[in-house]
Amino acid sequence: MSFTLAIVGRPNVGKSTLFNRLVGKKLALVDDQPGVTRDLREGAARLGDLDFTVIDTAGLEEATDDSLEGRMRRLTERAVEMADICLFMIDARTGVTPTDEVFAEILRKKADHVILAANKGEGRAADAGVIEAWNLGLGEPLRISAEHGEGMADLFGALLPLS
Ligand code: GDP
Ligand code: MG
Repeated sequence: MSFTLAIVGRPNVGKSTLFNRLVGKKLALVDDQPGVTRDLREGAARLGDLDFTVIDTAGLEEATDDSLEGRMRRLTERAVEMADICLFMIDARTGVTPTDEVFAEILRKKADHVILAANKGEGRAADAGVIEAWNLGLGEPLRISAEHGEGMADLFGALLPLS
């Protein structure tokens, strides 16, 4: 059985980097229209022997008149509705920000299954942020590095029982 995983979190934590890693270069080249930002980008992902659909959320990066928090709520709620599992990503080097806490609150209320990922987890600069991530009330954070491909076995282990 297949499932849909949505990657959510504030801008710049590494969502698209993980999306590209899961989908592979070949299929990730979909941002081909300059000036067009797609709020949700979908791809066919593979991790180990798991095949699933992954959704990358974007669109929070654009400057609009709308408040960031309002757009975050709408986008996150849309992603949660589409997905079976949400991967909520924070930047372990930065630690937990007030914006992360808003996301965590939405996900605690709306999402059935949340995997918390503390990205940019390579190196000791991430240690404090990984510990802080426990405070989000979403269980044990997975320490990953989307850029370096670290923690992918742990991600697989988290997805497997939910698949
Ligand atoms: P998004 O806005 O959440 O989609 O974030 P991006 O995937 O665009 O990444 C934002 C920045 O973080 C880019 O410069 C990435 O190269 C960098 N980045 C992503 N993953 C990692 C990681 O695991 N470690 C480090 N050090 N940087 C990362
Ligand atoms: Mg992105």
